[in-house]
Amino acid sequence: MAETCHNCSALITKNFCSNCGQKKYKRIDKKYIWDELQYTLFHTNKGFLYSIKKILRNPGKTAMEFINGHRVNHYKPILLVFILSGIATFISYKLLKLKVVMNEYFTQKNINSNQMEDFMNFLSSYTSIIMLLMIPLFALSTWIAFKKWGHNYYEHLVINAYILSFYTLISIIFIYPVMYFYRHSPNVFFLITQISMLLVPFILFWFFKEFYKNKPIKSIVLKVLAVIGLAIIGYMFFSMLLAFISISIYK
Ligand SMILES: [Zn+2]
Repeated sequence: MAETCHNCSALITKNFCSNCGQKKYKRIDKKYIWDELQYTLFHTNKGFLYSIKKILRNPGKTAMEFINGHRVNHYKPILLVFILSGIATFISYKLLKLKVVMNEYFTQKNINSNQMEDFMNFLSSYTSIIMLLMIPLFALSTWIAFKKWGHNYYEHLVINAYILSFYTLISIIFIYPVMYFYRHSPNVFFLITQISMLLVPFILFWFFKEFYKNKPIKSIVLKVLAVIGLAIIGYMFFSMLLAFISISIYK
């Protein structure tokens, strides 16, 4: 039976209106309210858990599928990385009490010894928020390193949203529980932070190996090394800029 779209009155033959894209009319019912509540309260829908599962299993393949246009089942990658960073930050403040740990650490270390070094430590402790802010910079690094293989800068923004989503998930699931266990020994705590940073090159390699499935391993290794080099230069520049700004504010 032919139906008309309740939004634009075009004839509907499938599940969606081919003119405006609205779904075929369905009365608002319990399921509708439940779906909307879930979305309002947690900003999640079926796509949220689906994307998380796919990303944990194979972030590179997931990013490739999304970029190639398999998008309908997926949660939007930039929104996803914002939500995951939000969750990670909440955990590190409220559960890990990062601020308390940091104060202990700075007192132990004698805060006046080297303010610049402390500032760097401070930066590296707030990884989830800082890293979120640095996605445009990371994207610049991967875009430069992988430029010849054809993806544009905006696609690299999405690629980095996937990489950071994966890293944040790993932190929440594996690293934070260990940090929670050692929350009263700041030195071990920071050691874990540093070790978890050492995972990044391996994650990058695995990611791009799955993303660029048909490219030679050797070129991927070289390009990942280039990404790390570029990211370190960018990070140092960014931290120094922040340090410079904060010093001029406190003067
Ligand atoms: Zn319509």
